[in-house]
Amino acid sequence: MPNQPIERFEIAINTPAGRLSTVVDVPTSFVPVTAIVPLLRRLGEEAQLLEESQLSAQGKPRSCTKGCSACCHMLVPLSPPEAYALMNRIRSWPAEKQEHIATRFTQVKSVLLVKGLWHRLVELGESSQPPDDETLEPINQEFYALRIACPFLEEDMCSIYDERPAACRELLVTSPADHCQNMASHTILPIPAPVRISPVLGLLWSELTDSPLRLIPLPIVSEWVERHRDDNEQTWQGSRLLDAALDKVWRYLSQSFPQAEDKPRGEG
Ligand code: SF4
Repeated sequence: MPNQPIERFEIAINTPAGRLSTVVDVPTSFVPVTAIVPLLRRLGEEAQLLEESQLSAQGKPRSCTKGCSACCHMLVPLSPPEAYALMNRIRSWPAEKQEHIATRFTQVKSVLLVKGLWHRLVELGESSQPPDDETLEPINQEFYALRIACPFLEEDMCSIYDERPAACRELLVTSPADHCQNMASHTILPIPAPVRISPVLGLLWSELTDSPLRLIPLPIVSEWVERHRDDNEQTWQGSRLLDAALDKVWRYLSQSFPQAEDKPRGEG
């Protein structure tokens, strides 16, 4: 958020891949939840770099390369803060670019309607229960089998690279990149994400707004945000958002990795 007074915090987080120490700037004013999205994505990426450097030292470097877009045919999950941030970004584009992406989303919707997946994705986004693996797995598999390219994929490259969802940033592998073209017949070796930022943001949103945990499939994001537009009018003090977000990071780490006991610290 440019031109806003900010407060600087030093953050320390113990992750399974090592200790992450970084500095973050947070607006002192009241801001919408979308203000915390870039900061949390950065924390997630820095934590992932720790994991990557450990694997690299073991002779298992990341093999994902520019132009490799196999994972851009998977179903991308978004948390509500990411969904609002993404649509805000799209609305800031010139009209022609907005129309182009709207057409791409409409094309994807048409295929999903024909294949009977659209309504299941809408149900998923509106569900008041967090989806379990038994619900998600068949939907993910059916979606991937359709080989539908993400609406943001242009010439095998992400057209919103700096704004791409956290889930996209966390899909990295050490196995040969071409194996991802046929996941059914190859072994894929993913790089574990020490902190998954989309569930953290989902938990944050759920607690801030006293609403169910949501998982929004990317193809329905525009319609979901339109249906839930009023929910995004609240604002919170930047430092309060940071505190609440760090609490959710800690909760994620302590549930996924019980040995990571120290609470993340944010010191101004
Ligand atoms: S948002 Fe970008 S990185 Fe994510 S699936 Fe779409 S094209 Fe790929």
